[in-house]
Amino acid sequence: MAEVVGLHFTLKNQDGHILGGTDEKDDAPLLVLLGYGSLLPALEDNIKDMTIGQSKTVILPPAQAYGDVDKSLRMIIPRSKFPEGTEIKEGLQFAGGQRDGWPIVFRIVKIDRDDIYIDANHELAGMALHYDVKITQRRMATADEVAHGHAHGHGGHQH
Ligand SMILES: [Zn+2]
Repeated sequence: MAEVVGLHFTLKNQDGHILGGTDEKDDAPLLVLLGYGSLLPALEDNIKDMTIGQSKTVILPPAQAYGDVDKSLRMIIPRSKFPEGTEIKEGLQFAGGQRDGWPIVFRIVKIDRDDIYIDANHELAGMALHYDVKITQRRMATADEVAHGHAHGHGGHQH
């Protein structure tokens, strides 16, 4: 039987810089249906047996997180190659081609006059990720949750 776990977490990079997470004071715990790919597999492996109230720091090397940086996915494109009227701004994303049958999503990471630096690596590629995790609840999944493949409720999907 599938289980739902509620957790608070803080995600940091190897330098301790906070990249994301939940705020224990203001946010609902994240609800995760175990076994359905909601979390990175290595993270889920590390937390799936934790009990309510338990805290843990999980450190994932890039290979267990978002992989190494692939330099071939970083390119400099002249501004003139973008279709006219395209908004060009740091942080914007656009689809461009396919790789192994999956669409590639590029991010504009830097603009230097007419040179547009784009990167299709995951934003967290090449990083060791530190997760501080605290389990707030565990319960059996409902039939609906299993059918949908995600947890329902405050902190999960709401529909
Ligand atoms: Zn649903």
